[in-house]
Amino acid sequence: MIAVLKQGTTDTQIENLSAWLKSQGLDVHLSKGKTHTVIGLVGDTAKIDAELLESLDIVDSVKRISEPFKSANRKFHPDDSVIKVGNTSVGGLDFAIMAGPCSVESEEQVMEIAKAVKAAGATMLRGGAFKPRTSPYDFQGLKADGIELLLKAKKETGLPIVTEIMNANHLPLFEEVDVIQVGARNMQNFELLKELGKTQKPILLKRGLANTLKELLMSAEYIMAGGNENVILCERGIRTFETYTRNTLDLSAIPMLKELTHLPIIADPSHATGMARLVKPMAVAAAAAGAHGLMIEVHNDPAHALCDGAQSLTPEAFADVTRAVSRVIDAVKETN
Ligand code: PEP
Ligand code: MN
Repeated sequence: MIAVLKQGTTDTQIENLSAWLKSQGLDVHLSKGKTHTVIGLVGDTAKIDAELLESLDIVDSVKRISEPFKSANRKFHPDDSVIKVGNTSVGGLDFAIMAGPCSVESEEQVMEIAKAVKAAGATMLRGGAFKPRTSPYDFQGLKADGIELLLKAKKETGLPIVTEIMNANHLPLFEEVDVIQVGARNMQNFELLKELGKTQKPILLKRGLANTLKELLMSAEYIMAGGNENVILCERGIRTFETYTRNTLDLSAIPMLKELTHLPIIADPSHATGMARLVKPMAVAAAAAGAHGLMIEVHNDPAHALCDGAQSLTPEAFADVTRAVSRVIDAVKETN
């Protein structure tokens, strides 16, 4: 349920109303937007008399929210959420570019790539330390050592780092990680999501291989229900009957999600296509569709990458993509 407050409502009036709603056993979410203040209520709202609430002087309107996702719902928070990450941010008008290798392989590799992606306009460095591989015989990542190397690269370049978690027991290793990624395979690992909800870390939640947008939003809701509102969504392609591409980039997910939620949404054209030469057109298309950012795999020697070489861009190709994307972002801003 949401209550939209009238313009001119004072902070004291808002506090008094919130306190009463909390005393009814409800979680109260306050969103002070540019034009309206919205009070979002989660819990057993059946016991609230909507007509009584609407009759209050300070209340403009009351609506029941039929969607099962509440905190993530645009109706709860009409303005875009902007998630602060170090000295940069994701959401609203800021365009984030997370770039780096699929997996961290060595100090030389990650340092070289970090410097190159920064020079080409990346705002964050990505790199897998714990890798979810389809085969148990494939490289599983450098694990804790991989995180150490990412932190070295962060120190050297100033870029915030994004890396994937696969097990909540590893959380202490992620203390200095700026954005914790939940990969497609763990999107519905609800116990992991609940643990991440207890932190205040920005979480990059990737859409599962065969999950609906509603399921993605419900997973975001798991994190938010625990008190962590810093969730960034990522469309990374879904399984379809098509086999030429690794996955199918669901571009319409971007404007659809922007309608449904206030959370930022970025796109990952690397995992979506599986082919380096398709990354540029899909990156440009995602930016044109209104994405708040991109995640792109970049390797200094894609042919010898230990993971996902076929979809990895060289630093030069990545720089070409960021140039094209920045022109599209400017055009999108003009048309809005
Ligand atoms: C990744 O980002 O390296 C990754 C494994 O992605 P996804 O979970 O989308 O497959
Ligand atoms: Mn990868």
